[in-house]
Amino acid sequence: MTKKRIVVIGAGVAGLTTALLLSERSGYRITVAAKHMPGDYDAEYASPWAGANYMPVSIRGSMAAEWDKKTWAWLLDLAMNRPESGVHLQECEIYSRAKDNGSATADWFSELLAPNPWFKDIVPNFRDITQDTLIAGVESAKSFTSVCINTAIYLPWLVSQCLKNSVTFRRANFKHILEASKGIQLGGPFDLVVNCTGLMASQLGGVEDKSLVPARGQIVVVSNNASKMISISGTDDGDDEACYVMTRAAGGGTVLGGSYQKGNWDPQVDPNLAVRIMKRAVELCPDLTGGKGIEHLDVIRHGVGLRPVREGGTRVEKERIGDTLVVHNYGAGGAGYQSSFGCAQTAVDLIEEALGTGAKL
Ligand code: FAD
Repeated sequence: MTKKRIVVIGAGVAGLTTALLLSERSGYRITVAAKHMPGDYDAEYASPWAGANYMPVSIRGSMAAEWDKKTWAWLLDLAMNRPESGVHLQECEIYSRAKDNGSATADWFSELLAPNPWFKDIVPNFRDITQDTLIAGVESAKSFTSVCINTAIYLPWLVSQCLKNSVTFRRANFKHILEASKGIQLGGPFDLVVNCTGLMASQLGGVEDKSLVPARGQIVVVSNNASKMISISGTDDGDDEACYVMTRAAGGGTVLGGSYQKGNWDPQVDPNLAVRIMKRAVELCPDLTGGKGIEHLDVIRHGVGLRPVREGGTRVEKERIGDTLVVHNYGAGGAGYQSSFGCAQTAVDLIEEALGTGAKL
């Protein structure tokens, strides 16, 4: 049987996970074509900047919660059995302050902060932290076992798993999605295009999704270690600033965040924000510096990534554009890793459905 030719646009966590899961099914010749590849750093390429951890913000009963649930099983398996993937287990604490109610960060975290979140039955060791051990200003808190993903290892690992399954990788920057389907220099034409272009789906011809906005995330990566991951519902420095700490697997350093600045496309590091991020982090997590100030942080890198936030949530859908079959998987906002496996699985099912029943689209 002739293999179906598929081009996946995008080599972020969405594109690579979709390509990997599709390559595990038979009957496909897959090319991943992207402007940015693992190893590159650019604000519009969100994946390398993520912490990245599993702290679900999806709402109970939603499709997004289903995707997150499926992804937990995948990430747990990697952490337990595949250390070469750069995923490890870490304890995680979430702190909640009443005064943050209604802020951008608290809204984004609403399910995470809920007293009875849907994921409490799937992550290990979920518990409320007792009142008498809470730090000043925090009214309630919970803890559970989660994972932290070293993106500098995980993204290349996904590439290597794809290469093992004969997926081809090419650099390309498309102005229009139909350029990809013709894909003359890429070994096309292709039977189907998978659109995993993240935030840039807002500008890709044929898609131009105007419901996508950036949520700018600024981070500092330091070589200091933290014994657990900590996040809090807000900060005293601004509605759209955030505070979290997570130590990556295998010497990847500790990521200090951050911000959630919706509509802000600025790719440059704001040095004042960087100082606020570091000050908040050492206050929240004194074991980073043994209780000392930010001059005791050893900075590896400052960075900015733009989360691909889509009103209405991640788009995992099939569509016919002109005479080209397309499956979309973009717009995961701040949850691209924790939903990656579930979204990719749905995308792969849609690819199979579209190629089997394309005329009904
Ligand atoms: P991207 O990683 O942006 O990849 C898009 C790909 O498409 C790139 O390869 C790009 O080059 C390519 N592309 C785009 N347009 C074109 C074109 N026209 N032609 C060719 N190629 C194109 N998520 C979590 O789950 N947990 C976390 O802890 C977490 N923390 C985060 C912290 C920060 C600071 C940030 C910025 C994000 C965080 N996220 C987290 C969110 C996560 O990083 C994103 O949801 C995810 O990376 C999006 O992946 P993607 O593959 O959809 O997009």
